[in-house]
Amino acid sequence: MTTLSIIGPNLNDQSKATFHVHAAGCSDIGKYPNKLITTGEYASLADIVRDVYSDILDEGESNIDDLKSEFHVLPCALRALQ
Ligand SMILES: [Zn+2]
Repeated sequence: MTTLSIIGPNLNDQSKATFHVHAAGCSDIGKYPNKLITTGEYASLADIVRDVYSDILDEGESNIDDLKSEFHVLPCALRALQ
């Protein structure tokens, strides 16, 4: 488990994904004021998807693999997840 911060949606740059995943405390998070939606302990991208999209997953209309593309994992977070 590692502590990650998720920012989004409606970021200035959405070319990569709706949400960006950073290591907690990453200085880039400050570039997106008021966009931090959560900081928590996660073991994988699937964990993050389950947390952010719990409502949609409960409705059963999408699955975790479909929703992974909504998240861009920055290098700081990739290092933390490994
Ligand atoms: Zn970062």
